[in-house]
Amino acid sequence: MERFDSKIVSDWRFEQDRELDFAQIYHPQPQPTSRPNGRDADRKSVTALAKEVLNVVIRKRRMERSEESCRSLTCPICSAPHLPKVATAMVKGEPIQFVLPAFPGKSPNLAKVLGPLPDMAEKQSLHFLNELCRKMGELYEPGAKILICSDGRVFNDLVEISDENITSYQKSLNQQIQELQLENISTFNLDDVGDTLIDDSSGSFAQLRQSLVAKYAQPLEALQERIRSAGRDIHGSEAQEAQRMYCGITRFLFEDALVPGQTRSRTSIQKSCRLRAYEVIRRSNAWSELIAENFPESIRLSIHPQSCGSRKLGIQLVGTNAWLTPWHGVAVQTRQGFTLMKRWEAESRNAHLVMDAEGKPSHYQLLDDNNDIYKGDDNEIKL
Ligand SMILES: [Zn+2]
Repeated sequence: MERFDSKIVSDWRFEQDRELDFAQIYHPQPQPTSRPNGRDADRKSVTALAKEVLNVVIRKRRMERSEESCRSLTCPICSAPHLPKVATAMVKGEPIQFVLPAFPGKSPNLAKVLGPLPDMAEKQSLHFLNELCRKMGELYEPGAKILICSDGRVFNDLVEISDENITSYQKSLNQQIQELQLENISTFNLDDVGDTLIDDSSGSFAQLRQSLVAKYAQPLEALQERIRSAGRDIHGSEAQEAQRMYCGITRFLFEDALVPGQTRSRTSIQKSCRLRAYEVIRRSNAWSELIAENFPESIRLSIHPQSCGSRKLGIQLVGTNAWLTPWHGVAVQTRQGFTLMKRWEAESRNAHLVMDAEGKPSHYQLLDDNNDIYKGDDNEIKL
């Protein structure tokens, strides 16, 4: 559901009208000692600085292919939902806050991942997100913070990840953040709001999920109608985004269900995956509502590509592979940096498995004919 904070927007217009000087808010660089006519030669408006800071994220955003026309940094419609929040933080002299529902838990399909715990794929992504914040901090000293709203507990029963594995994944993700000293990254998950959702502190995770759905989810029929209407373009880009999510999640569920030894027909698996995909989206949307309620001033990031003017900003995590995420793949190192692949793809290219300091599988190295690390493709990013 679209959230529109009219107060922030009106404040923002007010600040624009006054053309607040950059020098009036916190400036990370030393001010010039002599100012001809009392004016700062480096003076910038909050508007200009907010745009510059937001562009750090926009450069790494993920957009729908149909939106090629606004791939430049200057599309005002793309930045309109986010600039007021950046500017509001700047006027207050506070860090710019982002929320990112992501990092649910590793896929249960061992043809895609190395195991149930975070590995180099998560490390690279967390490091990348921290770097984004650091780069924003070079332009605006209070910097930026990303809160990862880990959504595994919200729908793990539907994607066949156990509650125990979600707990271990969340714990291990926090350990990685600590060990890598990623001061701009923190996490938030359903367990953190348990006491606001259920009275009984000894309630089960299943009760927690039920309560989230009861309080925040839309009816299943409404979601199904919205996704079906995308083809008829009744509800515009939001319905189309919901439909893309539905197709993507159905595909992931289908891939994950094709584990060795399963005996059901592909048609029967497909049918069950479609039904579960609706429920995954319904719960994800409920989680988004809870996040928006708890963090109304934060800019909403998404791992999914977004269209022009979306209230969410799509963001890359590692490389530019469409749909592949650290929890659905493995990190593969080339000389150009890390990229993501499904485990079977890395193995089919004879990539070399690398262990971490504790002897657990970490990532793969892609080697060339001389056993050197492979030079890599153009679409792989460097941090
Ligand atoms: Zn645009």
